Amino acid sequence: MDQLPLRDDLRGRTPYGAPQLDVAVRLNTNENSYDVPDDVVRAVIEALAGQVPHLNRYPDREATALREDLAAYLGHDLRPEQVWAANGSNEVLQQVLQAFGGPGRTALGFTPAYSMHPIITVGCGSTWVDGQRDDDFDLDADHVAAQVREVDPDVVFLCSPNNPTGTALHPDVVTAAYEAARGMVVVDEAYAEFARPGALSALSSLPGRPRLVVTRTMSKAFALAGARVGYLAADPAVVDALRLVRLPYHLSSLTQAAARAALGHAGTLLSTVEAIKGQRDRIVATLPRLGLHPVASDANFVLFGGLEDERAAWQGLLDQGVLVRDVGIRHHLRVTAGTQAETSAFLDALADVTSHSTQTTGAPR
Ligand code: PMP
Repeated sequence: MDQLPLRDDLRGRTPYGAPQLDVAVRLNTNENSYDVPDDVVRAVIEALAGQVPHLNRYPDREATALREDLAAYLGHDLRPEQVWAANGSNEVLQQVLQAFGGPGRTALGFTPAYSMHPIITVGCGSTWVDGQRDDDFDLDADHVAAQVREVDPDVVFLCSPNNPTGTALHPDVVTAAYEAARGMVVVDEAYAEFARPGALSALSSLPGRPRLVVTRTMSKAFALAGARVGYLAADPAVVDALRLVRLPYHLSSLTQAAARAALGHAGTLLSTVEAIKGQRDRIVATLPRLGLHPVASDANFVLFGGLEDERAAWQGLLDQGVLVRDVGIRHHLRVTAGTQAETSAFLDALADVTSHSTQTTGAPR
């Protein structure tokens, strides 16, 4: 690669690369551990079969019917012209950066947050600025607004519930960032469906805020990570802007049909959410007994600190067939809440790993 005439700003960069290892218990990429239920499988297959004879034609490049279904699912009086869909919320985020970022422009996010936000930003030729969180990983409205004013970015990224820390933002933080910003404010709500009672979506802040964007995905709560369906809600003018950068026919007719069939069975698919939240809360309740410090979670994963050597702990878990995520925060690891059996396997392996070393640091962070 070094010999190629690669863009200077990409030299020395590392690609996104969560390990995809073939182990028994995979709890490292916040997927939904449950297979797609049989009746949804049948509905998707039927919907796909209806499309296959017509694959000679390009898909509806506006994904009109899918956007109608997504608007109905989101509620909040959203109209289809306020909704946009693409191949995963990663592609939605990339389109937002293509339209509102780009060379000479800046994006601000609050690290640690979703690792793809800076990667997509740099890929689109924009400059990334790392904002600061409080010591407990929290974000306070005044602190956020002050940083937005200082950096004056073209795009602000907020993530609620935040990956990798897990906690949802208070809507005041979103509105404070919006008021301080000249540019677009993107709230990445990939894990919104897993939030604890009382957490409010930024969707409720959309009216009257034409620079606010809320992104969602079918990869997590809907258990459709393999189908690659992400979407956003925003002012219709934002959707018009994205049409300037999207590739023609970016969302295949198979993807659109699969997503619509799945949305038709939203109740069945989302029924796993409560079970997953139960396992998440079990992890949060159990870790302190191992001397570890879980961060409050509104997502389908838990970040926990207190590990003496997180890399050794990660390897120790893997040696027992449990794959979790080292997100690059010292003394911390992140685990996805899986099925009851997977969660038990994780907790048992972790108890074993911590008992065989001087694992815990004592101090929460
Ligand atoms: N946002 C966040 C916060 C995520 O954690 C992820 C996936 N890990 C995504 C967006 C992207 O998901 P997808 O492209 O599958 O919709």
